[in-house]
Amino acid sequence: MTVYNHVALIGLGLIAGSISLALRRNGQPVKITGTARSAQTRQTALDIGLVDAVFDTAAEAVKGADLVILAVPIGAMAGIAADIAPHLKTGATVTDVGSVKSAVIDAVGPHMPKNVHFIPGHPMAGTEKSGPESGFAHLFDNRWCLLTPPKDTDKNALAKLSEFWQGLGAMVEIMDAKHHDLVAVVISHAPHLIAYTMVGVADDMSRVTEQEVVNYSAAGFRDFTRIAASDPTMWRDVFLHNKDATLEVLGRFTEELFALQRAIRTGDGDFLFDYFTRTRDVRRSIIDAGQDTDAVDFGRVAAAETDKK
Ligand code: NAP
Repeated sequence: MTVYNHVALIGLGLIAGSISLALRRNGQPVKITGTARSAQTRQTALDIGLVDAVFDTAAEAVKGADLVILAVPIGAMAGIAADIAPHLKTGATVTDVGSVKSAVIDAVGPHMPKNVHFIPGHPMAGTEKSGPESGFAHLFDNRWCLLTPPKDTDKNALAKLSEFWQGLGAMVEIMDAKHHDLVAVVISHAPHLIAYTMVGVADDMSRVTEQEVVNYSAAGFRDFTRIAASDPTMWRDVFLHNKDATLEVLGRFTEELFALQRAIRTGDGDFLFDYFTRTRDVRRSIIDAGQDTDAVDFGRVAAAETDKK
């Protein structure tokens, strides 16, 4: 069943592209309009069929839309919200896919007219790629989409948005925005920052990076470089807009790192062994929960096979 007849995508990159392809996969009649910052992205999105029509401005793209999805870097959301506000259809739902929720609520919420439903969201799915050609239809399959509705959110509007995400293959959970922001740091933001740091350290140590890093990168470092290749604009905005939760988790991380450093210095093998045993169990529980495969190569061979289908 078609949940919304007309969906407007503001931003036409990895996430918006994947939403479009997942919608099209369902074969339901849905009109998709969109916009992006550059003419080149808008044209590419049109050429590869992500949208039925593109517009130069967000204000034009949202006209008549039943669902408007803000899929731009977090720092761009306030300006777009102000631009689209007078052009939104009465009864429309406005959502977003930003990786931080409290800051988006503060940035977008004040611009939203009373006659629309604003329900922030965050699909917990992504890759290090960006741009309209990086999207794929199964990105959200079996992944969580966290919705953080304000207290007075209309129940029917929330049910419809949940149904929409389930239609794209996702599982939906309702969460408080502040709690979301802390959870997101632990599972996504801090790991990205640590990967950026590790790759930066290796780069600084030019003695190591000249050849060794490239030649021998089948080890763990390779996976750090994949994460550290993620979009700089997106991740700059994530850290600028999730400051408190990030600093809290980094404080904990630093304490743990010091404990491990101490164990290495004092030769406390039992401490290291117990620590690594506990973390291995975490990996097992992620596989048991169906959020990754047990295949070697971090499941990428399996993912590549799925991509071909
Ligand atoms: P992306 O591939 O880099 O795409 C961003 C899109 O936003 C591009 O089409 C860009 O247009 C457009 N854009 C940027 N500034 C704009 C503006 N002022 N007005 C209109 N369009 C603008 O990014 P993405 O990975 O899809 O991320 C989009 C959002 O999803 C971000 O808020 C991010 O936090 C969130 N998210 C990302 C992931 C992930 O893993 N990537 C996962 C979950 C959530 P141009 O191409 O013309 O610059």
